[in-house]
This record gives sequence, C-alpha cells and structure tokens, in this order.
Amino acid sequence: MARNTNPVCKICKSQGEKLFLKGERCYTPKCAVDRSRDSSGRRAPGGPAGAQRRRRRLSDHGIQLQQKQKARHIYGIYERQFRGVFDEAARQTGVTGSNLLKLLERRLDNVVYRAGFATSRPQARQTVNHGHIVVNGKKVDIPSFIVKPGDVVGWREKSKSSGLFKAASDNVGRRRQATNWITVDSDNLTAAIDAVPAEDDIDTTIDTRMIVEYYSRR
Ligand code: SF4
Repeated sequence: MARNTNPVCKICKSQGEKLFLKGERCYTPKCAVDRSRDSSGRRAPGGPAGAQRRRRRLSDHGIQLQQKQKARHIYGIYERQFRGVFDEAARQTGVTGSNLLKLLERRLDNVVYRAGFATSRPQARQTVNHGHIVVNGKKVDIPSFIVKPGDVVGWREKSKSSGLFKAASDNVGRRRQATNWITVDSDNLTAAIDAVPAEDDIDTTIDTRMIVEYYSRR
C-alpha cells in the first residue's frame, strides 16, 4: 500500500465511500464509512469530517484528482508507478481509461485478491511479496506482475503449510470477488486467467475519464 501516516479508514472517509482497504473489518459494522451513515444509507448528521468537507463543490480539477487518488488507493500504488501504468495504457491501442483499468486489474496482487486468496489488496500484496505465490509453477514475488490469458496463479508448495494458506482456504469461498475472467479452483487454491478482463467485468466506481483528463493537463 502506498505509504500514508493516517489510518487507512480515513482514506475511505475522505473519498466518501468504501474502498475495502482493511480486509475482514470492511464487511463488519465496525467499518468507519458504514458507521458514518444512518439507516437509510445517507451520511449521518455530524458524520466524518472528510465527508463534511466533501459537501463543498469540487472543481473539475478536484474531481479529476479525487478519481486518480481513489484508483491509486484502491490498487495501492505509488504516484510514480501509477503514472507509469497510465503511460503504458496510453501507448496501447484503444481507449486509454479502459486500458488503464485492465492493466490495474491484471496485476498479480489484484488477481490474488479477486481470487479470494487474501481478504484485501494490501494482504494480497504482502502474500506475493513474501514469495508465497507461483504463476505457471514459478515463484513470482512482484505484485505488479501482469498476468495474461492462459496463466495459472497458485501457491508455492512450501507455503501450503503456512497460516496464510489456511486463511486463504477459509476465505476463498466466502469473500471471493466476482470475476468473469478468472476461474478459481477452491480445492487446490489456483486461479486460471481465462481472458483479459472486459471493462464490464470490473466492478468499480472509478471514473477513468477523469483520470485521463487529469493527466492530459500535465
Ligand atoms: Fe474503508 Fe474498510 Fe475502513 Fe470501511 S473498514 S472505512 S471499507 S478501509
């Protein structure tokens, strides 16, 4: 996760929506965003300071910056690296915003999260960083590794006795993020990449057009 001295829940509160950065806690009533809403789903009076501030109308630039920051926080990427992904998306044929989202989704740490092998992207990134994950049988400890159709993501043999593997086995059926482009084998804890995700396959509230506009001004 990009370094931030504030508790991660403050990031969600400043965005005014759940970004699912803390794993299991995000699905409980302890979620700071849920606690700041009343029973009808509206922000409760006297809600979080970030939400209060957001009631101010944002400028176009503010909205663009907000969307860019949201994408960075969701995928846990530093600015420099995010800019690199954006530049790669712009070089590809097709719509830059859509390319960007597809590249972010195809990161290995995101696949580990989507497959349900971790309860959050930060945990997924740590799992990859610590060398627990293999792609096509070879250890890959680079969270930004981009998977492609035909790849199979799984666990290193040595890691199958770890607590993380046990937790992943418990989690995989419960918290797996719906995807049409990954087939998960819950018994063997593998994830087969069937296709490059289509934009419709990616459940997100990120407005990539705003990100494209943000960088086009720089
Ligand atoms: Fe965001 Fe999760 Fe914290 Fe809720 S619990 S505010 S979704 S990080």
